[in-house]
Amino acid sequence: ESFKDYKLSNEIIDALNSLEYESPTAVQSKVIPLVLEKIDLVVKSQTGSGKTASFGIPICELIDWKENKPQALILTPTRELAVQVKEDFINIGRFKRIKAAAVYGKQPFAIQKTELKQKTHVVVGTPGRVLDHIERGTLSLERINYLVIDEADEMLNMGFIEQVEAIIKELPRKRVTMLFSATLPEKVKSLSLNYMKTPIDIEI
Ligand code: AMP
Repeated sequence: ESFKDYKLSNEIIDALNSLEYESPTAVQSKVIPLVLEKIDLVVKSQTGSGKTASFGIPICELIDWKENKPQALILTPTRELAVQVKEDFINIGRFKRIKAAAVYGKQPFAIQKTELKQKTHVVVGTPGRVLDHIERGTLSLERINYLVIDEADEMLNMGFIEQVEAIIKELPRKRVTMLFSATLPEKVKSLSLNYMKTPIDIEI
């Protein structure tokens, strides 16, 4: 299998070449085509499987560069993961000039506020700080078409599920939602039942 089997633009294919990603991993070959079709997904997979690019590649492909407001929101349990995911989006979207910002606790709010004021296609963040930005009006959600809940079981372990739900309630209804988790405890499953449209389950 090859990345050329999917409907990806040259800008994305060139970025994958420069990253030396020769062929899709197992999770990528299942997830990429479905996200390109805008289907909601619940994906049971581990870190190290290439899961970040499995959502990063199709989201970068689908993003409209001209739109100034954020189009994708990626929720992560930790600051470290938020920064990593942001870097991955910048790498995959480099030839499309995709702009990504990370927002998380412990970094001054003002720095992130300034960053969010600029053109930003993708916002990656931890739930508490994302909610802060929503409440203070520094993060626009009107154009969010893609939501990723990454490491959902870790969000649950860290007590972030209520914050995740509060964020989801603020998002446009018309969107694609992807949930990634290594395990699927009841509370994670109920997120998918309550906030996703007949999602397809993928297990790697
Ligand atoms: P992740 O599971 O998202 O943390 O990714 C694990 C590692 O695999 C990261 O270092 C990625 O850069 C790398 N990676 C992701 N997709 C591919 C691919 N198709 N080919 C080679 N390496 C990849």
